Amino acid sequence: MSTLIVKGWCPGGLRPMLSGDGLLVRVKPLIGRLTQTQAAGIAYLADQCGNGLIDLSARATLTIRGVTDQTYDRLITGLKELNLIDPTPEAEARRNCIVTPYWENGDGTAELAEGLAKALQGQQGFRLPGKFGFALDTGPFPVLRAVSADIRIERDTNGMLLCRPDGADTGAHVTPDSLVQTAISLAEWFVTTGGRTRMAAHLADGAVLPSAFTVMKEASHRKIPQPVPHVSSAGVLVGFAFGQLQAVTLGALATHSPLRLTPWRMLLLEGQTQAPALNDIITSQNDPLLRVAACTGAPGCSQALLPTRHLAHALAPYVPQGQSLHISGCSKGCAHPNAASVTLVAQERGFALVRNGNACAASYERTFSPAMLLEDPDALFL
Ligand code: SF4
Repeated sequence: MSTLIVKGWCPGGLRPMLSGDGLLVRVKPLIGRLTQTQAAGIAYLADQCGNGLIDLSARATLTIRGVTDQTYDRLITGLKELNLIDPTPEAEARRNCIVTPYWENGDGTAELAEGLAKALQGQQGFRLPGKFGFALDTGPFPVLRAVSADIRIERDTNGMLLCRPDGADTGAHVTPDSLVQTAISLAEWFVTTGGRTRMAAHLADGAVLPSAFTVMKEASHRKIPQPVPHVSSAGVLVGFAFGQLQAVTLGALATHSPLRLTPWRMLLLEGQTQAPALNDIITSQNDPLLRVAACTGAPGCSQALLPTRHLAHALAPYVPQGQSLHISGCSKGCAHPNAASVTLVAQERGFALVRNGNACAASYERTFSPAMLLEDPDALFL
């Protein structure tokens, strides 16, 4: 029986994590945007210093896979030259900020994101829990409310900025000048009042917010764009099977435009109105691969009990519209923490089936070998 290792922290550039295919080196662009030079540089470095595979994360970061002890220093030197490395591992760990990819020139989001990122870098000695993060949702309307974050900054229909703790319906009005200080003070309040993991859990445990946080959030009546490929006023959103792309694909995208990272494991091609014709990008909203989540699995992840992605590719065409499939290499469920219509969780001798649940469900329906699943894939979705 394998033992599930819950690390409770995310890899970084200066704090890589060892996995089955080598070191994972995470890159967090300062405002969630890569210039064309940066994107081309990452593509080159991932090819030269890693195994050529790049994962997009639900934290709007990207991870270079397959880095070795011999290539790590060269990779970090290259990333530093691209301005993609924080001054210290502590600064990198604190600087968790997801920025709406739909920001527009002149709306102030890029400046706010840079101000918050630099302030977090500079808070020496201030430690936050590993998963604690900020969501800067100040585009034309909020799109990040379903995305994991602890401190949310949103803009209402009158253009006012609200800094709101996750799990609360109320926040504090801020100006572009006071936003950074208010957000960091709220994070400090979280720590000094005994918050240990996430903001919503801290509030649910009875923590009482400071008195300034009494402004009710505005209900969003706008239809939030689904995280599927589409053209927006900020650019074209494109997807990748299981949120993974080849270095060569990133290099090709870099020739077209700057890229914005998203928490949906997709990239927004800034200012573009049409996606380039590249083989391994997903541009159709009806592509069945968008209905399937699958983690790295074996052998790339050292905790995986079975390979996942070959099976996921094979089963994707059988997933009906409106349903979803998640194949997980172990019960940690990294690729899709939420429920899916069908979840298959690797066990030592096959995949356990969960319907309308997630990978860490308490009980499984039954276990199938990959061959059984491929023999009658339609039966999975009856
Ligand atoms: S869910 Fe997948 S990627 Fe996450 S630890 Fe398990 S096998 Fe590895």
